[in-house]
Amino acid sequence: MKYAFFKGKIVPFSEAKISIMTHAFNYGTGVFEGIRGYWNPKKKQKYLLKMKEHYLRMINSCKILKIGINYSVDELSQITIDLVKKNTYKEDVYIRPIAYKAEEKIGLGLTGVKDDFAIFLAPFGDYLDVSKGIKVCTSSWTRLDDNIIPARAKITGGYANSSLAKSEAIENGFAEAILLTKEGYVSEGSGENIFLVRDGKLITPSASQSILEGITRAAIIELAKNELNLEVIERPVNRSELYVSDELFFCGTGAQVSPITEVDRRKIADGKIGPVSEKLKKIYFDAVRGDNPKYSSWLTPVY
Ligand code: PMP
Repeated sequence: MKYAFFKGKIVPFSEAKISIMTHAFNYGTGVFEGIRGYWNPKKKQKYLLKMKEHYLRMINSCKILKIGINYSVDELSQITIDLVKKNTYKEDVYIRPIAYKAEEKIGLGLTGVKDDFAIFLAPFGDYLDVSKGIKVCTSSWTRLDDNIIPARAKITGGYANSSLAKSEAIENGFAEAILLTKEGYVSEGSGENIFLVRDGKLITPSASQSILEGITRAAIIELAKNELNLEVIERPVNRSELYVSDELFFCGTGAQVSPITEVDRRKIADGKIGPVSEKLKKIYFDAVRGDNPKYSSWLTPVY
């Protein structure tokens, strides 16, 4: 973390500081994104993955939280490229753009509260294990409903709920938690979407199940249809359907493709990573590292 984008310009990271009175710090009134930059050592290139899609989603998050953002997707993308270049990391990075209610003010509300926008980044490897298959639990915490803090928007305050779920999982010896909606349907992990394989079909909770509409989720749907000819179904999923699925995996910017081999101490099928998850993982990693020209449109080279 050498440089950040803060108050309209690139500054040394140590200068990118906000006041303790900042509205977003007190009330969780920010929206953010997470974008991966994959370093390809052979090509000596860094690829920013689906940057445009992330900024389009951030602009939608801003609409939901009434945050004004004075940059276009193209401007945000150019600022990001400049910042990544300036940081000169020759390794994988995670980029965190954040738009937030910046006013130093006591009092709730969104309208008329001043906004700002910042970006920082850090070197970043695997967030969840992608090689062995992870053990997860269903959470005792409920996914936020669309009428509470909408999961469709990546709102900082909503991640207090995700942190409760993740913390409970870790403290009980699990790698991650799966949250259920208030109606008891499967929603998603604390920071990733979930897929099931049943009878050769790929199933994932639909957008109305209080999920963040994941960019990796869309990428996986595309790969499953194009490369594996799989039928993909978006529909409500019951908790017990997890236990009888043939395969399960998480996907997300952080999680990438992370196969799940156990839920609530119950083995999924034979407890080994299944063939569909394995294939999708391989195709996904080739695409995001710039090793499959068919998906070069997903990538923005930095250099
Ligand atoms: N759900 C939640 C709650 C998340 O925080 C994330 C990570 N951004 C995802 C799903 C996955 O979304 P994406 O693939 O766009 O990173």
